[in-house]
Amino acid sequence: MLPGRSARQEINHAITSAIRIFRKGEDRSGEVLRSVSMNLRSIFSLFSSDLAIDLGTANTLVFARGRGIVVSEPSIVAINKVTHKVEAVGNKAKEMLGRTPGNIVAIRPMKDGVIADFEVTEKMLQYFIQQAHGGKQWVSPRIVIGIPSEITQVERRAVEDSAYRAKASEVYLVEEAMAAAIGAGLPITEPHGNMIVDIGGGTTDIAVISLSGIVYSKSVRVAGNEMDESIIQYIKRKYNLLIGERTAEQIKMEIGSAAPLEEPKNMEIKGRNLIEGIPKTIVVTDEEVREALADSVATIVNAVRVALERTPPELSADIVDRGIVLTGGGSLLKKLDMRLMQETGLPVSMAEDPLSSVVLGAGMMLSDFDLLRRVRWDGATLPS
Ligand code: ADP
Ligand code: MG
Repeated sequence: MLPGRSARQEINHAITSAIRIFRKGEDRSGEVLRSVSMNLRSIFSLFSSDLAIDLGTANTLVFARGRGIVVSEPSIVAINKVTHKVEAVGNKAKEMLGRTPGNIVAIRPMKDGVIADFEVTEKMLQYFIQQAHGGKQWVSPRIVIGIPSEITQVERRAVEDSAYRAKASEVYLVEEAMAAAIGAGLPITEPHGNMIVDIGGGTTDIAVISLSGIVYSKSVRVAGNEMDESIIQYIKRKYNLLIGERTAEQIKMEIGSAAPLEEPKNMEIKGRNLIEGIPKTIVVTDEEVREALADSVATIVNAVRVALERTPPELSADIVDRGIVLTGGGSLLKKLDMRLMQETGLPVSMAEDPLSSVVLGAGMMLSDFDLLRRVRWDGATLPS
């Protein structure tokens, strides 16, 4: 469909071009059919809201063409162990995390950047697609899905198939790193090196992109979740206090950091004392949390260093000038940008909306199919 045309204009156009061919009085029924069907198809693509999906390990976001981000929820599914039915998805399922009765389990199906549970991932994907459509059943959208870089062929097929089962008319898989770079506004089609570091829940993905292609990519399984886990372990070791995943995440977000803060911060936390077995409250400082996070942060910094070492010289010269761009929720850890700047000596900047870069980038491809064709993941092995 041409930009700026309304549905009514499209219908008129389809009819007038068909009439024009008839008027000429020739037998050109094939042409008429083609003309009408082409125009009808573009009309349907107007009604079927095309979707872009960021299937993240921590959060799933859906972007609908013309409407923007319509879903942003945790990638969590609560399943009834007895009936195998889905009890809740997204925010509702996250609230259940750590609080489920015996017969319900809350699952993160995309753990570690790969699909840990195919069936549950499919149910989750379908739920979010339906939610994005707001109950409309008859639409058959084109769907662009950002997938983790380390995904296997089998997992790739699983994502593709479940999108088709959710009534997609066409499915395009794109590398998350590429989508993130586009969403963060990097000029990826130019012959310059751009480094993007996406710190998510399960993985930190580092990529160097030039001329719409990934020149180097590396994924380490250390990111937000691992940070939460280190906080749990630290508090357990030091205070004999058991805290849950959600509390650990709150501590990380509120007082966690990768380098000393200007103002010290404390936080009161509640957990279960392991020795007395009763609930207790303690106060932790930002310094303690920094210590707890030290290994995770070091792993991320190190992965960036390795990526810089492996980047071809011409492109690393570009990165020296343009710097590194951070994205993903994990990059919101306080002082992480400063720490990376200190350790690499390069300029480091944050994407404007780190939690949405991937879905915004994939969303841009919905209206720029030329770009999509260029960056679409065809399953070829990447250079590393
Ligand atoms: P994914 O792409 O894997 O779904 P996201 O990019 O959505 O991951 O990032 C989710 C991670 O970001 C979670 O581990 C979450 O705890 C972390 N996160 C979100 N906000 C903050 C913050 N302010 N400080 C530190 N970590 C954060
Ligand atoms: Mg992500």
